[in-house]
This record gives sequence, structure tokens and C-alpha cells, in this order.
Amino acid sequence: MFGSMMDRPLLVSSLLEHAERQFGGTEIVSRETSGALHRYTFREAASRSRRLARALAKVGVAHGSRVATLAWNNHRHLEAYFAVSGSGAVLHTCNPRLHPEQLAYILNHAEDEVLLFDTTFLPLAEAIAALCQNIRHYVLLGGREVMPDSSPLPNLACYEDLLADSDDDFVWPEFDERTASSLCYTSGTTGNPKGVLYSHRSTILHSLALSLPDTLSLSAHDCVLPVVPMFHVNAWGIPYAAAMNGCKLVLPGPQLDGASLFELMEREDVTCSAGVPTIWLGLAQHMEKNNVKPSTMKRTVVGGSAMPEALIRTFSERFGVEVRHAWGMTETSPLGTQGSLLPKHADLCAAQQCAQRAKQGRPVFGVEMRIVDADGKELPRDGKAMGELMVRGPWIVAEYFKGEKPALRDGWFPTGDIATIDTDGYMQITDRVKDVIKSGGEWISSIDLENAATGHPAVLMAAVIGASHPKWDERPVMFLVTKPGHVVDKAEILAYLGDKVAKWWLPDAVIFLDGLPLGATGKVQKMDLRRQYGDVLRGAAA
Ligand code: ADP
Repeated sequence: MFGSMMDRPLLVSSLLEHAERQFGGTEIVSRETSGALHRYTFREAASRSRRLARALAKVGVAHGSRVATLAWNNHRHLEAYFAVSGSGAVLHTCNPRLHPEQLAYILNHAEDEVLLFDTTFLPLAEAIAALCQNIRHYVLLGGREVMPDSSPLPNLACYEDLLADSDDDFVWPEFDERTASSLCYTSGTTGNPKGVLYSHRSTILHSLALSLPDTLSLSAHDCVLPVVPMFHVNAWGIPYAAAMNGCKLVLPGPQLDGASLFELMEREDVTCSAGVPTIWLGLAQHMEKNNVKPSTMKRTVVGGSAMPEALIRTFSERFGVEVRHAWGMTETSPLGTQGSLLPKHADLCAAQQCAQRAKQGRPVFGVEMRIVDADGKELPRDGKAMGELMVRGPWIVAEYFKGEKPALRDGWFPTGDIATIDTDGYMQITDRVKDVIKSGGEWISSIDLENAATGHPAVLMAAVIGASHPKWDERPVMFLVTKPGHVVDKAEILAYLGDKVAKWWLPDAVIFLDGLPLGATGKVQKMDLRRQYGDVLRGAAA
């Protein structure tokens, strides 16, 4: 027997309609590419999104058409989020930091028909145009004043002209909630990038999970600033969740350095944020240097790579900001876990609480997790057994876009991460399958070593790789970037690590660099380090 409740579809457009009706006067503040601040309300954003939907329909965007964006976090990108998905087309957000050839590959693979882009990316759009024959229309996200005098781009239109020539007399269509809403490609560190096609249903359910009290805890009292780019996994769903909850939304545009973020957070009374650890490192450095701390910011969600315990502590103790660790990936929309504390942790001292927060956390409702060995057998949840993390849930990928083979194993998605799960259900990533160091048949966690090293007061950033070793197969090599004005040497680092990790985990080499190679999403590119330094221990005594 089925229940007899209404079968109303969960659609992205309903978020904007709700925001317009319930929170019409709530502000959206956006840093323009020019640096100026633009401010308007959800009411105006909704009206302009309807105009855009009409304008896109006029140029032939139909149900299921793919529309690509190359844009910062700003109000026009937000309008595209709702206009494209809301009208039944698919929003394909592209990472402008990709190599142009890789970008052309995904634009062709997705068969995008229209490309909306910020002025910053005009040269990039021009560079890939000849390689992307599917794209029939190019739209520059700005007014007439930013239009080039001439350009080789076919049908290049001015966004503001398109909107001015349109009107907002548009009713969002209703369709099946399983319809594709947006498309994001994995960064393709191994092989070609793969497309993950989110649905309206998965997006709405994910927004609800993101809003929960232990996750981002969003409400109409909040002002949220997503530092995480709207071109990567939908800014972790914040644009949707902000509309759902009526949060004031602050979009930082291209200015993501510590000073600019701090200034924007203070000016707009931001209460919560989200981004990768490197962003928080930049902000912490700025605040330390200038001896300032945020006056309204209460919490931030951090993910994408492991947030070092030392940085969690700095934010909590020095700046009064609660760091909530989250784990996820393009294939998981991305929210999988949240690292907030349980009542039993209330009695722990501050340092122990930060250690707990350094774990990636417990699965949010909707996501199931387990760890398995090489034969696919489930491993115990004892906080010790390490195995590949498998996940399933309504916002986890089932198959890649146009993928020949399914992404799943026994109905679970293999994440490629190695993790432990403890008796309280806290998951802790110890490595990517490809990054774990295999020394003499045992595993060494590169993340644990990095985490321990960043606790040293002179260390700004750390990365560890497994380098080939004639006797042990692989041994850890550590790369360190020191804080400005600090000096430290290998002996001191090894002594510091000595009581934090097992003796046989201590790195065989410590190499000091001016910076670490960062990829398109701000993560350390260990592949580059392996390529350059993978053989440094070859000559070691066997
Ligand atoms: P890509 O896989 O394309 O590099 P994603 O953004 O999808 O880009 O990255 C997902 C991966 O990032 C995860 O599989 C995991 O290895 C890593 N990751 C994400 N969040 C965390 C976290 N909180 N701690 C450690 N690693 C994380």
C-alpha cells in the first residue's frame, strides 16, 4: 500500500520561488570581477533569473540542453544556477583553472551549447572556441562596457543586453524530479575527467542535509559566504541552501586572499563560511599578522583536503571560530560527513576537542558508509582497521555521465579513499588509495604525517609522498614550507615528530620548498611531487 501524500516534485526552481516569496528582501552581496560590490535582493535575483530563462529559451536552450559557465562566485553566476536548472536545462559549471585542452575536452564531452563567462575568462573562451564546435552562443557576464570591440567568438552576446531584451513573465516548468539539474567533472587526476550529473531531487535533498544543525546549521539569521567556488561541486550546495533558508548570501568573486576575505566578512557581518584548508590558512595568516579577529563569524565548514589539527585549534582558540570538518567529493554532491562533536565530548579539554574535530566526521543522514578490505569484505568500526571507504545514498553518483561502466561496486560507490571508522561512527581519512605509503608491506598515512608536521610552530604547509626505496618498496619523503621568518631543519622536525608518530613512520628525507604545487581546486598535487622527487631515495642503502 502506498502512502497517500502528494507527489510534488523536488525542483531547484522551488528554492528560488520560496526565497522570493518568504525572504524577498534578503540581500545578496556580490564582488564583481572589477572589484566593486554589487548588492541586491532575492526578489531581484528571482526576477532576473526568470528573464535569463526566457532569454536562453530564445536562443534555443531546451529541456536537457547543456549550458556551461566559466565564472567566479558572483550574482550573475547565481542567476544562471537557477535559470538554467530551473528551466529544465543542465548547468555545467567549469573550472577555469583547468588546462585549456582539458577544458575543451569536458565542453565537448558535455556537448555544451552555450557558454556564459566572466570577463576574466574572455581570453580562455577565445582560446578554446575553435576546439568546441558545439557551442553556438557565447555570453559575456556583464554590461556593454565590458564587451570587447571585436572577438572571434561566434554569436557573442552581452548578458545585460539579453536580460534587458527579455522580461520576467515566466513560470518555472514542472517536470520529473529525477531530471538532471547540473553537471560537474572530476578533476581527472587519473585519466580523463568524468562527469557527475546531479538531479533536482539529489540537489534538494543535499541542500536539506547541508542546512542541518550539525552541518552548516543555516537559518534566516545567517549570513553565509561560500569561498568554495561555484565552479566546483556547486559551491558545496550553498547557493541552493541559502535560498532554502533565506540566508544573506555574500559572494566573494575573484578576491580570495586573506585580507580581502576578512574585509568582506567584517563589512557584511558574515556568520558562516565554507572552503578548502588553504583558504583558511591564508585568512589565519592575515589575522595573525594584523592582530585582528572576526567579530561576527561563528563557524566554517572545511573540506576538500584534511584540515590540520593545528589550524583547527588556531581558529577555535585564537579567533573564536568553530571549524566543522566535512568530507566529500564531486561524486557525493559533495557532502558526506560532518565533524561536529557529540555530548560526550563536552568534558574533553580544548586540545582533545580539536583532535576530535580533525577527524572527517560522522555521515550526515542520507549517506551510509563502510570500509572494506581488498576483497570487498567489510572491516570493523574500531577506529583502527583501515580500508577503502564505500558510500551510498540519494546524492551519491550511480554512474558517470556517458560512462561505459557503472561507478558502483555491489551497489556502493568506491571512493578511492582509505579510512578508519571508530565506534562513535567518526570516519577518518588516512589517505587516497594512490597516496598511501607502502613501506615493507605496511601502510603509512601521509595525512597523519602532514597533520603532525603542521603542528610545529615554524611549519606553514606540509606534504608527504611515498618515494621508491630499494629495500622497503616505498618510504616517506616530507616537503615543508616554513612560515615567513622561521627557520627549522630536518633534525628538529624529526625530533618533533618523534613522539607523535611511530618511529618507522619518520620520513627518510625532509625537503624544504618555497611553495607546494596546488591543483585546480587548491589541493596539493602529490602527483607533481612524485614525478619530481619519487626517486630521491633510490640510492639509499638497501
Ligand atoms: P577530485 O577527486 O576531483 O580531486 P574532489 O573535490 O571530488 O576532487 O575531491 C575529493 C577527494 O578530496 C576525496 O576523495 C578525498 O580524498 C579528499 N577530501 C575531501 N574532503 C576531505 C577532508 N575533509 N579530509 C581529507 N580529504 C578530503
